[in-house]
Amino acid sequence: MNGFRAGVELGGTKTIAVIGRGQEIVERITFPTTTPEATLGAVAGQLAAWHATFRPEALGIASFGPIALNARHGAHGHMLPTPKAGWSGADVLGILSAAMPVPVALHTDVTAAALAEQRWGAARGLSDIAYITIGTGIGMGVIAGGQPVTGRMHPEAGHLRVRRLPGDRFAGVCSFHGDCLEGLASGPAIAARAGMTADLLPEDHPAWLPVTDALAEGIATLMLTLSCERIVIGGGVGLGRPHLLPLVRGRIAGKLGGYLPSLGEAEIAALVVPAALGGDAGPLGTLALADTALPARVLACAEAERQAVR
Ligand code: ZN
Repeated sequence: MNGFRAGVELGGTKTIAVIGRGQEIVERITFPTTTPEATLGAVAGQLAAWHATFRPEALGIASFGPIALNARHGAHGHMLPTPKAGWSGADVLGILSAAMPVPVALHTDVTAAALAEQRWGAARGLSDIAYITIGTGIGMGVIAGGQPVTGRMHPEAGHLRVRRLPGDRFAGVCSFHGDCLEGLASGPAIAARAGMTADLLPEDHPAWLPVTDALAEGIATLMLTLSCERIVIGGGVGLGRPHLLPLVRGRIAGKLGGYLPSLGEAEIAALVVPAALGGDAGPLGTLALADTALPARVLACAEAERQAVR
């Protein structure tokens, strides 16, 4: 066992392929995400080259969605209907796994980031966590009982329907729901409401109130449904605007109405935290995801070897 894992983070605009061991990324190559043929073809070529040199033992593929993850689904590993031109039906799993014949795990990009934060970041050592990315969309990855939640497809809690602030007439920007959580609190929602992108919007601008209120609604819902031990906030808006998280935390207790006992201000601050791995959560998540493709006994042996070397 050499401990090497390969990973692919397939994103909407760029795709990152990595080879690494533990938390160390040894090589990282970025490709533009264009057509499935060009992008998956280029990544497959890289995986084949790494397979010959590093001999990685498993591959983790983290993809933008929606993608069919349930192995009982006929289209397993294929993109589901997506607005991204040319990608509907693309055989992500088939093309990439053919280039590297090792155990493969496939999940969403946000679930991979959740795994990375659980293993090496802000939710280390916990078994029931959620990772929320707030950026061009709102995505959530959920780990329950130490395992990534897949279910019928994969969680899409960014589209939770949240209660609106009284009198708020903003229509929201989700093309499916209008005023779901993503439609109210994503980067494009903030820009549409405020007439200014989230990175430029002053901290005291009134547009932050409905945004933080919607996020607090969504997070309170996660607390009530999943009983998360930690909720990790990432993404360009989530991490890029540090004033956001304290505002959201400040509204959560009101949403819960005292229903969950022992969740005071300090406990909420410890429960809802910023991501610790920054932009590396995705690539590292592919390596953590690769481990889920291997039997537990193989991982236990590898860990014992690592400890012995130290
Ligand atoms: Zn929606």
